[in-house]
Amino acid sequence: MVPLPAAAAPKVVASIKPIASLVEGVMEGIAKPSIIVGGGQSLHTFSMKPSDAKALNNAEVVFWVGEGLEAFLEKPIHALAGRARVVPLIDATGLRLLKGREGGVWDEHADDHEEHQHEDHQEIDGHIWLDPANAIAMVSAISAALSEVDSANSINYAKNAKSLTARIETLDVELKQSLAPVVKRPFIVFHDGYQYFETHYGLNGAGSITVSPDRMPGAKRVGAIKDKIQSLQAACVFAEPQFEPKLVQTLIDGTTAKTGTLDPEASTLPAGPELYFNLMRGLTKNLRNCLQP
Ligand SMILES: [Zn+2]
Repeated sequence: MVPLPAAAAPKVVASIKPIASLVEGVMEGIAKPSIIVGGGQSLHTFSMKPSDAKALNNAEVVFWVGEGLEAFLEKPIHALAGRARVVPLIDATGLRLLKGREGGVWDEHADDHEEHQHEDHQEIDGHIWLDPANAIAMVSAISAALSEVDSANSINYAKNAKSLTARIETLDVELKQSLAPVVKRPFIVFHDGYQYFETHYGLNGAGSITVSPDRMPGAKRVGAIKDKIQSLQAACVFAEPQFEPKLVQTLIDGTTAKTGTLDPEASTLPAGPELYFNLMRGLTKNLRNCLQP
């Protein structure tokens, strides 16, 4: 019997670079996904261009985290209405989900009026990829979804998923060892995007500068963070690439805290299957460099 030719690989779109990296790993040797937030922008302030809408309209499979994180995709995905298979990875089996943090200098309700009206504070935190165990659960969900749409390649998806999982497990061991010396050291992050990473590795994140990256903190919040840095003797205050406020300098003035930069959404990294590994290693290196005494 003549073997049937493999069907054309499905057109796949991924929302953001960390998700796309895992999808690309599962699709390696088959096809490449396109990415909506592929450049240096923050997913929190991103808005869709016509070319992004076109990619989405031609997609057969769309991977995203889900409602809440990628606000720019909510309407366009609803508009797709059954024309593509939409896979919210936040629903992947075996994910450990955490709620956005509240209280202290995470989401302080006694802040300015605008922040007070912010309604997202009790939602599930969407930065799920920063826990490597979650990344492994997502790889498995990605492989399952692609295999259903493109059964001709299901063996290849499963094979790629297996080797990607093994690589993430090895990465996890490496990062655990690397972070061990700094687990107790308190630090302040730019936005509350790190708790999956902190929880998994037992790090001591003590608060965030902003409640949401698209709005700067008011004077009252700045004061509260400064007090927190002083009282905890926080080792570091971390900025992010798109948000380099002079504020970080203001916050550490008169304290012993150092500054560093973290890029939890990989905005500065080239897209591709290695991005996930570079992202996790980059966070680890920058945390370690700044936090070590
Ligand atoms: Zn974020």
